[in-house]
Amino acid sequence: MRLEGKVVIITGAGSGIGRASVKRFCEEGATVIGCDIDVEQLSSLASECKELKGKMIPKKLDVTDRTAVQATIDEIKNSYGRIDGLINNAGVTRDGLLQKISEEDWDMVIDVNLKGVFNMTQFVIPVMLEQGTGSIVNTSSIVGVYGNIGQTNYAASKAGVNAMTKTWAKEFTRKGAKIRVNSVAPGFTKTPMTEKVPEKILAALEERIPLKRMGEPEEIADVYLFLISDESSYVTGQVIGVDGGLVL
Ligand code: NAP
Repeated sequence: MRLEGKVVIITGAGSGIGRASVKRFCEEGATVIGCDIDVEQLSSLASECKELKGKMIPKKLDVTDRTAVQATIDEIKNSYGRIDGLINNAGVTRDGLLQKISEEDWDMVIDVNLKGVFNMTQFVIPVMLEQGTGSIVNTSSIVGVYGNIGQTNYAASKAGVNAMTKTWAKEFTRKGAKIRVNSVAPGFTKTPMTEKVPEKILAALEERIPLKRMGEPEEIADVYLFLISDESSYVTGQVIGVDGGLVL
């Protein structure tokens, strides 16, 4: 098993890519702390993971709540003594053309997608620095690299995530620690997030994708797995596209 003995935190664990990742990581023997604001989703996920080799621990957590984030990370450190992986996967969209985006929609997307990543990483990093090892994956998007009509707030948040990834890849290794930080930039992936996109637009998009289909959440989970595992020991500071070739 590729993650035996590893303790990994995954945010946005209850749905879509996060949910598929929790299962994949449990199959590979990890202890996974699955964090999400949606408790019902977490408890059904915990039941689905019971038969798998690893262990899934559900935690209700809003990544924008710094006090709760600090308390959760302290609790995890006290219970398991270490944190090997952090996947900052929680994310939201509030789409609209620039003239129509409200201040609330701007703040919401920046708070969850950007500040949430800052909050989680700021409280996890002392644990990883103490260990001298760790791997952090920040979930970005192709939109954070190439932009997209109607997604000013989302594009800004994901571009910021990529900038933090590169900064942290330099910062966390300053004193010789082996802490890697990478971004994964999914293309259009079949999750509740893309269920909101009209059929017609999705069909047109699929036509533009060289692989002629949307991604499955499990295909993103497999890249997370590679980046958290020691198989990617020389990969850091990268933004890895998992998009069926859409941006080519
Ligand atoms: P999803 O199915 O909507 O799952 C996101 C999960 O995050 C949901 O369970 C959501 O709960 C939770 N969440 C929202 N706000 C949170 C908060 N403040 N604290 C903790 N958890 C919170 O979305 P997904 O498609 O799997 O997306 C996962 C990541 O991939 C996101 O960062 C997204 O931006 C990125 N991504 C997705 C696609 C795609 O095509 N699906 C493409 C590029 C990038 P609620 O459901 O209750 O809000």
